[in-house]
Amino acid sequence: MTEPRAHPVFAHGGTTVFEVFSALARDTGAINLGQGFPDHGEPAEVIAAAAAALTERSNQYPPMMGVPELRRAVAAHARRFYGLEVDAAAEVMITSGATEALAASILAFVRPGDEVVTFEPMYDSYAPVIRRAGGVVRPVRLPAPDWTLDEATLAAAFGPRTRAIILNNPMNPTGKLFSDGELAAIARLCEKHDTIAIADEVYEHLVFDNHAFTPLIAVPGMRRRTLRIGSAGKTFSLTGWKVGYITAAPDLMGPVSRCHQFLTFTTPPGLQYGVAHGLGLEDGYFRGLAARMSAKRDRLAHALAGIGLTVNTCAGTYFLIADIGGLARPGEDDTAFAMRLTREAGVACIPVSAFYEKDPPRNLVRFCFCKTDEILGEAVARLGNHFGRKAAAAP
Ligand code: PMP
Ligand code: GLN
Repeated sequence: MTEPRAHPVFAHGGTTVFEVFSALARDTGAINLGQGFPDHGEPAEVIAAAAAALTERSNQYPPMMGVPELRRAVAAHARRFYGLEVDAAAEVMITSGATEALAASILAFVRPGDEVVTFEPMYDSYAPVIRRAGGVVRPVRLPAPDWTLDEATLAAAFGPRTRAIILNNPMNPTGKLFSDGELAAIARLCEKHDTIAIADEVYEHLVFDNHAFTPLIAVPGMRRRTLRIGSAGKTFSLTGWKVGYITAAPDLMGPVSRCHQFLTFTTPPGLQYGVAHGLGLEDGYFRGLAARMSAKRDRLAHALAGIGLTVNTCAGTYFLIADIGGLARPGEDDTAFAMRLTREAGVACIPVSAFYEKDPPRNLVRFCFCKTDEILGEAVARLGNHFGRKAAAAP
């Protein structure tokens, strides 16, 4: 569909791949291992704190920057987990999800003609907003199956017009956790080209196998040039709440807050109080989340491999990438394969080609594993049935 009066970025049809496959799953009754959202595990006390705030506290506009309790909780969380000193009053802002935080950051800094370096495969909200700001996307492709960053390739993407780099770590859809060496390489180039970094770190607490997560803002030299973005949706399995947060030095925060004031202005106060409570939960909650999810990763990875898919490693997020080579029909690409699985096998997944600007690989699909063991088991049984194989038992 084309609407010639609209801005070119939005004139042409095209709905986000997550909605496309979720709608198809709803219509067909497929189990939805496509769009990333948990079907369990919301911490009851976080919901109770929000419910109490809804009935007992104000439901009018909260302060534009967010309620002080949540801004202080974001700063305390940064100190507790990363040893970062953050001024809650000057360096934290609450947004309507990480999506709004990303859009506000991009719109605030990217001027017509500016270039923004991103990593491919790339989360799908970045490029349209960069282009709407008049910017140019400079994707740096990370090669499957290891997704290792080559510093020379990254250096070649930087130039005099580079305004920003967007890093998603841990990375959707690859499940990659950037190494200290890769983060240092990014920091070196940001310094050299005086570039700001937008660090999409929504999966910061979904890091497995005792890997340590380092926020980009904590890498030497990056404190004053990084906008760090988090999301309660991921950390508390509450994706429908759409509560996000940005942490950045005051001179970066200024323009972003002036953008946020005209995008959403603010975010529901009751939910903000709930998230403030959540960020104060004991360490055990955060460790438990990662432990629970990594067990699910293992379960699904093992089962998918048993069916005949080649499954990539996953160090973080709640996504697994699988190579469809062993099971695709001749000429069937990732999108056709994902459609078939959704319609015929009754299990939705996401074609990874949707995460590329052009010339994508067409042999990879993404499965989401943040589901109950019963649902994962049923999904695997359906897949096994479709492909005529007995589903492997969980490890
Ligand atoms: N960034 C990445 C990499 C994501 O996977 C998501 C999906 N939830 C978001 C941003 C958006 O987060 P939110 O739902 O808080 O807007
Ligand atoms: N982040 C989610 C995913 O990657 C989707 C969020 C959305 O649908 N906008 O599956």
